[in-house]
Amino acid sequence: MAGDDFDVVVIGAGPGGYVAAIRAAQLGLKAAVVEREHLGGICLNWGCIPTKAMLRSAEVFHLMHRAKEFGLKADGIGYDLPAVIKRSRGIAGQLASGVGHLLKKNKVETVMGEAGLAAPGKVKVKGEKGERTLTAKNVILATGARARQLPGLEADGDLVWTYKDALRATRMPEKLLVIGSGAIGIEFASFFNTLGADTTVVEVLDRILPVEDEEISAHARKQFEKQGMKILANAKVAKLDRAKGKATAHVETGGKTETMEFDTVISAVGIVGNVEGLNLEKHGVKVERSHVVTDEYCRTGVEGLWAIGDLAGAPWLAHKASHEGVMVAELIAGRNDVHPVRPTSIPGCTYCQPQIASVGLTEAQAKEQGHEVKVGRFPFIGNGKAIALGEAEGMVKTVFDAETGELLGAHMVGAEVTELIQGYAVGKTLETTEAELMETVFPHPTLSEMMHESVLDAYGRAIHF
Ligand SMILES: Cc1cc2nc3c(=O)[nH]c(=O)nc-3n(C[C@H](O)[C@H](O)[C@H](O)COP(=O)(O)OP(=O)(O)OC[C@H]3O[C@@H](n4cnc5c(N)ncnc54)[C@H](O)[C@@H]3O)c2cc1C
Repeated sequence: MAGDDFDVVVIGAGPGGYVAAIRAAQLGLKAAVVEREHLGGICLNWGCIPTKAMLRSAEVFHLMHRAKEFGLKADGIGYDLPAVIKRSRGIAGQLASGVGHLLKKNKVETVMGEAGLAAPGKVKVKGEKGERTLTAKNVILATGARARQLPGLEADGDLVWTYKDALRATRMPEKLLVIGSGAIGIEFASFFNTLGADTTVVEVLDRILPVEDEEISAHARKQFEKQGMKILANAKVAKLDRAKGKATAHVETGGKTETMEFDTVISAVGIVGNVEGLNLEKHGVKVERSHVVTDEYCRTGVEGLWAIGDLAGAPWLAHKASHEGVMVAELIAGRNDVHPVRPTSIPGCTYCQPQIASVGLTEAQAKEQGHEVKVGRFPFIGNGKAIALGEAEGMVKTVFDAETGELLGAHMVGAEVTELIQGYAVGKTLETTEAELMETVFPHPTLSEMMHESVLDAYGRAIHF
């Protein structure tokens, strides 16, 4: 059927897939996107957006408790968990339906149903309206990922939650265990701890937020502990007993095992790619540890078959998925000015309190790669706007190549740093050096002045500290 023949078929309408389909359509290609569950993928429905909505509630709650500090009065401060969840779900729904409008506006055909590869260039869709076979010279796999379940620690939706259960929580945990201290684990730990749950985080590696620069994760840990969170690093939940509404965790630390009781556990131990049901290996696609293996242009090695976003591996971030989606659509359209996504130019953000944001190499990675480095640091306490905001805790760290002055990485912890990091991300894309950053005029009073001061500090020129 001519109506089922496309230039591009995208499987999965998350931030990778729907963006790829829209870009393809903008470039004049006939595009379809197949989605089995929800437009917007994990990001809009169960990830980036609903978590940020909940974290905003926690942030406002926290600020209300500090009212007196700002010369304000607020009595009877409390929260209404169902209302917090309702707001978060409403925002997710609003944005997901917006994706439907965007697809329509760009003349992308949306096909609801479960897709599988019948052959390269041939996608079978099983939907409510029956089966349909779509053909296209190019197929983009963008099926994303889901929560990893470790044996014995599997989520049951009652005592042990995945991120989805936490995002539709029907009760407030009193004693909460969060297993895993990556961005997802720490964001939920921060949310529930701020609302008053007695929160413990267990991390198997030697520090929390292990992908971040060591100094930044140490600073964040101190802040979380100040807020009453308990953090056990170098620790492992070896066993979890569940009985009578209680979870007993057997936590191994330094050769000793301790048992601890919780009423809620959030398992945040990573994700696995949605590779099942696509018949990938049958068609010659290489899958390693649940992720499709690709080259830097997201090519799978099978002609006309591409893989993007979470399915194609780390970093598992929505903006990485979207960027890859645009890149692949442009390659398919035959543009000759397409560049691969540089991993060191992808910023990463964690929206806990304090926030964490980074781009590029950590100091340790830079040294491992043989760079001689110059490192700058600037504390929030030295910044007028931070003090005016009542947010004097935090730091900005920059790492430069000592020989060339190239900005290798930037790392921040503190208020609003997730909004600041983009300044350094632009710098990374432009392959900026210390000289250009020093030449840049930063507005006063802003938190961004700390970005300037951190650069100046790397060269012994900081003014305000
Ligand atoms: C709690 C949480 C918080 C997060 N916070 C952030 C954040 O703040 N910032 C950030 O950048 N990232 C965040 N992420 C990660 C982000 O959500 C993902 O990186 C992003 O959604 C990946 O996009 P994607 O398009 O690759 O896949 P997904 O968003 O997973 O979309 C894949 C889509 O494919 C569909 N699908 C799968 N298989 C099939 C099939 N066979 N047929 C049809 N459809 C199929 C799925 O239903 C899904 O809609 C968070 C994730 C979680 C879980």
